Amino acid sequence: MKALTACTKAELAACKQEYEAEYQDFKAQNLKLDMSRGKPAPEQLDLSMPMMDVLTSKDLLQTENGFDCRNYGLIDGIPEAKRMFADILGVSDKEIIICGNSSLNVMFDTVAAAYTHGILGNTPWCQQKDVKFLCPVPGYDRHFSICEWFGIEMINVPLKEDGPDMDLVEKLVSADSSIKGIWCVPQYANPTGCCYSDQVVRRFANLKPKAPDFRIFWDNAYCIHHLVENPPQVLNLMDACKEAGNPNLPYIFASTSKVSFPGSGISMIAGSEENMSDLKKTMSIRTIGYDKINQLRHVRFFHDAAGLRAHMEKHRLIIRPKFEAVINKLNADIRPLGIADWTEPKGGYFISFNSMPGCAKRIVQLCKEAGVTLTGAGATYPYGKDPEDRNIRIAPTYPSVAELTKAMELFCICVKLASVEKLLA
Ligand code: PLP
Repeated sequence: MKALTACTKAELAACKQEYEAEYQDFKAQNLKLDMSRGKPAPEQLDLSMPMMDVLTSKDLLQTENGFDCRNYGLIDGIPEAKRMFADILGVSDKEIIICGNSSLNVMFDTVAAAYTHGILGNTPWCQQKDVKFLCPVPGYDRHFSICEWFGIEMINVPLKEDGPDMDLVEKLVSADSSIKGIWCVPQYANPTGCCYSDQVVRRFANLKPKAPDFRIFWDNAYCIHHLVENPPQVLNLMDACKEAGNPNLPYIFASTSKVSFPGSGISMIAGSEENMSDLKKTMSIRTIGYDKINQLRHVRFFHDAAGLRAHMEKHRLIIRPKFEAVINKLNADIRPLGIADWTEPKGGYFISFNSMPGCAKRIVQLCKEAGVTLTGAGATYPYGKDPEDRNIRIAPTYPSVAELTKAMELFCICVKLASVEKLLA
């Protein structure tokens, strides 16, 4: 196979004809597949079904220290759940609050609290002239939606293989007091799958923000979602921040959405004791407490951090072949043509695909018209604007390997067709 970029116009025209015919064949197959979001497959959800049996009407719904989970109380979460996730996140029991069924909800609430009431006695963001967030790109669309909702201006920062461009982060954060936060997914970033290096984590911990109410929104959504046997370790930000004398810098988030059941798991926020007690002020106005019975169910099923990790190994065995199917197909069909690149993540839920500039929207549209829905092109950038129209997030977990293979055949044809159209334009 010859690189498309090295083809003559006549050769390109011949390729276009061939790809169009292949595309029409696919269209005639009436595929219907939704790959727009990173969802666990039914077999992954099955892994947690025994959790439905760990609590019955015969069980004493009491915490290890005898608290009755059927009643109000324990806004921080039950002690055994706090311990289990404090272990996972590398913080102390006092530095974590177990919340409700979604970490996105906690992130929204944390921004909302800063917006309406301010962080640790600082002026609420809503009373400050400008409020801005740094957004490593490509990134997670729902982080960006939170900023958009509150009218927070987003500034793109390139995400490199070892984390955000820290020269730029340091420069911006230390110069501009209207920059109040940065969204980070430090382990297996959504969508690139990159992991932040030790040096990047240390540079985060040593930031000298101009704004006293600047926070690092450290979304550790995929901290135990490995695809490889010897996963990379990301340095503990909380420890690094304490060492740097900046214990209040991070807000750390996680959940069991892709461990147990999305929408019915448990979520958490961690940070300094000072930050946690500050946040509890808003939290205690908003709720009397979260679902402790679900917390108890999770602890009785997983037992401890080691139990959680062992469970994630079962997820790994289910989803790894799906990532391999995508990458093998891209390697076989697209690599020789020199028209795109993509990531090969060691964990998380996504593969980030970069087409030739100006082709991503067209590829997503072609796929949709032939029955495969992908995440909208542009979604991985603030305001839905990918400046180069290149990035597409591939979410391989939900379809079966057979469906995925079919979808990837179509995807590759769409990539080739969109690229050849561009080269001929
Ligand atoms: N954070 C990241 C980086 C995600 O990719 C996702 C889901 O895709 C979430 C958070 C959502 O988490 P939750 O279900 O706990 O709200």
